[in-house]
Amino acid sequence: MDDARTQPRPDRASTDEGAVPVKADPEAQRRLLELQAIDTALAQLAHRARHLPEVPELDRLARELAALEDERVRSKVAVDDFDRDIARLEKDIDQVRTRADRDRGRLDVGTGPARELEALQHELATLGRRQTELEDVELELMEQREQAQGVLDRLERRLETARDQRAEIERRRDDSLAEIDKDQEAKVTSRSPLVADLPDELVGLYERIRESTGIGAALLRAGRCEGCRLELSGSERSRYRGAEPDDVIRCEECGRILVRTAESGL
Ligand SMILES: [Zn+2]
Repeated sequence: MDDARTQPRPDRASTDEGAVPVKADPEAQRRLLELQAIDTALAQLAHRARHLPEVPELDRLARELAALEDERVRSKVAVDDFDRDIARLEKDIDQVRTRADRDRGRLDVGTGPARELEALQHELATLGRRQTELEDVELELMEQREQAQGVLDRLERRLETARDQRAEIERRRDDSLAEIDKDQEAKVTSRSPLVADLPDELVGLYERIRESTGIGAALLRAGRCEGCRLELSGSERSRYRGAEPDDVIRCEECGRILVRTAESGL
């Protein structure tokens, strides 16, 4: 045998070398196209499931939520810091107030040496100033706390919005997946009886070609292979014209099973 002729073509599946030509009823050959249509639809459904637009959207939202959550934690720490500082100041103010009350009580009683009473009055004045100072600082801190709380509130609202958005997109994704599942099930259900009806040998050949190229069988329409879209050469055309109806013929270019019908143009 001539070596050059037995060499597999680089674009051909290696499964067709030296195979005994397959024969199959022309009607079975035509039904291969139905099988191919189902398999093409299944491949499209699988592709759709892998490339749902919701997936990158959810990735983006997950990053946004993580960043917002970090900001929220920092913002909460700031508010808590203000609360702690304010509580400490209140304690200081309370101490000053208690001491002033005690001093006033002693003054009201009015007993004791005049020097002592004078010292009490002096201390009361100092305590009064101290209290005002502390209260001013507290007021300032309370204003700052209110601003920090505002930032925190806004962050929490943004987080809530982003979480709602995520839930909505997840719902859409799940709906799409459920729909794809349903379509896949329907296709698989119609595929099984069709395969059972076709000769094993024909289906086996079809599957081997489909595994390597995604398409196992193509219609020969108007002298053109619908698998690779190439026109038959003159010699190919005359060879196919001479073939028996139950000969399973394959495109010389792409190796796919060529299904002949009235519109094949042979
Ligand atoms: Zn072809």
